[in-house]
Amino acid sequence: MKKRLILLGPPGSGKGTLAAQLQSDFKLDHVSSGHLLRMEVEKYTRMGRYVQAFLDRGELVPDEFLLDFMAGWWNGLSADSKFMLDGFPRTLRQAEVLDLRLAERNAGIEAVLFLDCPVTLAIQRISGRRSCPKCGRVYHRSALLHPKAGQCEECVVDLIHRQDDEEEVVRKRYDIYVQETEPLIQYYRGQQKLTFIDGSSCAMETFAATKVALAK
Ligand code: AMP
Repeated sequence: MKKRLILLGPPGSGKGTLAAQLQSDFKLDHVSSGHLLRMEVEKYTRMGRYVQAFLDRGELVPDEFLLDFMAGWWNGLSADSKFMLDGFPRTLRQAEVLDLRLAERNAGIEAVLFLDCPVTLAIQRISGRRSCPKCGRVYHRSALLHPKAGQCEECVVDLIHRQDDEEEVVRKRYDIYVQETEPLIQYYRGQQKLTFIDGSSCAMETFAATKVALAK
């Protein structure tokens, strides 16, 4: 079973949902750069205020900042670490630095799951989603009809609609993904770590296909 993964794919391809399933079944740490950045924004630190402007506009935080920020995570890694990265790396520069830092810790990436999903479906999914401001878990509006609708099952706090989940911002995030992040598909294919997973199917099918891919 592969235990150090990258989840790659456009916004709305289901990376967060898949990560929650993998976390609960295989106890892999879910490392979401977007969630870590939003926590910084919540704290309203100077760094948080700097980051917020990029998040609100749906733009990538500059590489050098992000790499410094993520050092706080990789400094704690060892060869036994089990994790899945969601939203990081997003540029070739980030991927190259990540490879170097992980190699220094004998904790190299074992598989990259590429979830593909067309822009129309991504927008439909994201504009209907609500997120937990505490743990970052996402829920679709249509799944909120149970008695505790509107609250996170784990944290029991009210769900929110993220500002960068507005349709216009999602389109921009998708365009940036195509420009900056899609080249990583080639990068990881070259390393023979890439597995294609259909991100447009339902969460159960995506999870089943992922389990098969990780067992190989
Ligand atoms: P996400 O939750 O992964 O969709 O990320 C939300 C936002 O955080 C993105 O739109 C970016 O503004 C920022 N962000 C997250 N991860 C990265 C990254 N690896 N590089 C640059 N910006 C990032």
